[in-house]
Amino acid sequence: MKPKAIPGLPPLREVISRHGLSADKALGQNFLLDSQLLDRIARVPGDLDGATVYEVGPGPGGLTRALLEAGANVVAVERDRRCLDALAELNEASGGRLRVISGDAMKIDERTEAGDGAHIASNLPYNVGTALFVRWMTLADWAPWWTSLTLMFQREVADRIVAKPDTDAYGRLSVLAQWRATATIAMPVHRSAFVPPPKVMSAVVHVMPAAQPEGASIGTIEALTAAAFGQRRKMLRQSLKSVPGAVDALATVGIAPERRAETVSVDEFVELARVLGK
Ligand code: SAM
Repeated sequence: MKPKAIPGLPPLREVISRHGLSADKALGQNFLLDSQLLDRIARVPGDLDGATVYEVGPGPGGLTRALLEAGANVVAVERDRRCLDALAELNEASGGRLRVISGDAMKIDERTEAGDGAHIASNLPYNVGTALFVRWMTLADWAPWWTSLTLMFQREVADRIVAKPDTDAYGRLSVLAQWRATATIAMPVHRSAFVPPPKVMSAVVHVMPAAQPEGASIGTIEALTAAAFGQRRKMLRQSLKSVPGAVDALATVGIAPERRAETVSVDEFVELARVLGK
């Protein structure tokens, strides 16, 4: 039994047609309507009863419903004003547990809106998904203000986030995601689950923060990964030239300068950042 089942909600298809919410490609709208799938996604962060969840792009409110029914209070930001009436109905049905901000997720201060300790869950619009993820992973303060991330990405982006060295998918996103957090694929999602179906497959990624390694800073990790993967086919002694001290630091850490970025493990990037930070 769901902790806070909301009785009497109309089917999502009816909400979409009554409010004229035909999907707008420019807003990255691919809606999820399968309540069982939405419930499974809402279970990824763990027990949400009484927790706050920040959701980007609730759209007609499918995932929002599942989160509310899991007992969460939801703070959501939606750019498409056509969705606001449908979301207001959902807020009423949930007894006032949904607050919707009408605006652009790239422009709001979500930490202030959602509050420290909030979980973040979203079927992300693909056009801002990676930028938002990088923003949540590159905070100077760590542990971060958020408790966990549960995010739907295109499968190719999800694969890059969880990738291991010596693979084509391994890159800047992998290191940013893994150097002070664990990132896993919680479930693959078939393109046919969306309305309309996108061209590519998707996956839900779950991120839990870990401790920040002492002596390494996000600024240095960002500079190293941008330089190393910006020229991923070049040897490190060439690609790292733009980061002062980095080529010399390779020897201290025991990384051969002939290696290429995709062979360098997350731990090795952290060691390099530590040495540079000294
Ligand atoms: N959560 C719904 C679902 O799962 O069915 C909709 C997900 S759809 C992939 C992405 C949603 O993000 C759309 O509702 C879209 O209008 C909204 N959106 C797009 N860009 C946005 C932005 N910059 N800020 C806030 N919402 C945005």
